[in-house]
Amino acid sequence: MTDNFTTLFNTYSWEQTKQSIYEKTARDVEHALGNSGKRTLEDFKALISPAAAPYLEKMAQLSRAATLKRFGKIMQLYVPLYLSNECNNICTYCGFSLDNKVRRKTLSSMEIMQEVAVLKEMGYDHVLLVTGEANQTVHVDYFKKVLELLRPHFALISMEVQPLNTEDYEELIPLGLNTVLVYQETYHRDDYKKHHPKGKKSNFEYRLETPDRLGKAEVHKMGLGVLIGLEDWRTDSFFTALHLNYLEKKYWKTKYSLSFPRLRPFSGGLEPKVEMSDRELVQLICAYRLFNEEVELSISTRESIVFRDHIIGLGITSISAGSKTNPGGYAVEPESLEQFEISDERSPSEIEEMLREKGYEAVWKDWDCTLQ
Ligand code: SF4
Repeated sequence: MTDNFTTLFNTYSWEQTKQSIYEKTARDVEHALGNSGKRTLEDFKALISPAAAPYLEKMAQLSRAATLKRFGKIMQLYVPLYLSNECNNICTYCGFSLDNKVRRKTLSSMEIMQEVAVLKEMGYDHVLLVTGEANQTVHVDYFKKVLELLRPHFALISMEVQPLNTEDYEELIPLGLNTVLVYQETYHRDDYKKHHPKGKKSNFEYRLETPDRLGKAEVHKMGLGVLIGLEDWRTDSFFTALHLNYLEKKYWKTKYSLSFPRLRPFSGGLEPKVEMSDRELVQLICAYRLFNEEVELSISTRESIVFRDHIIGLGITSISAGSKTNPGGYAVEPESLEQFEISDERSPSEIEEMLREKGYEAVWKDWDCTLQ
């Protein structure tokens, strides 16, 4: 077993991997679907390949059955809480990018509690804290303060902030940090540099090795993913699966989740290099489920109402609802700049009702975490 993922990653070529996915045949897909044991990375390549498109119905049936067997008819609900839009990075696809001349804001303790009051009113017990990367103001001490403030109010606290060092995570976990999401954005090294020309985030390896640091810190759960639209989604998804496989073997105490955000409009907008259709996103979600029956699969309000309603039951285990993507968006400053546009603006109670109509129960609390 390698010391960190970079060592394994460097043994792969992007172009050869891409070619091997596009060369998969109907026979490879049928072999993957018929595999009754644990499916391999080669099976996963077949399931995300163009050759699998005619098998979508079969994939959806198998994915649905596997998800029901492992997770039952429940759906976890979570909500993002944007704490700050300050950021020292330039990311070509983000409204908070340093070169986007917008007013910057970081919530004070009092403002955070104003936001929390609204989230509790909505019924939430799982909050996802989101910030940009501004180490002068939004640093580990700020996160410590926020965790102390929020811990009495939420059963589960997740974070999607700048990558930190192992010892930082080790300080935050005892204060109530349960889950950390860190998306690689793309595993294409050259394109990564193109989309992250300035700031700490331009360091591809530091980001790539963040899940290793989280594993070493023994975080309860971590979330992986790429930003779909930056590069060929099939190849990026293969590397996500490779990363997940590696992490699960090495940090077996940690749980894992995957997200599949598609590039959304934002102020200053970047057009996706690669479009992914709704059918292809369903294919990817089913492929992940058939590859890994344990991993949690999450879908956010980036996706449309129609898509979200249809994807329930095919593999997804958690969804957000009623989200705002601007700091202060729930109560303090509803008109401040969003990180990206929301597509599904239904309230949490409307989402709960939709789930009920489909025979699903909305779960507001992660029991697994409270039983630790
Ligand atoms: S994606 Fe994150 S790091 Fe990049 S500009 Fe946006 S907030 Fe900053």
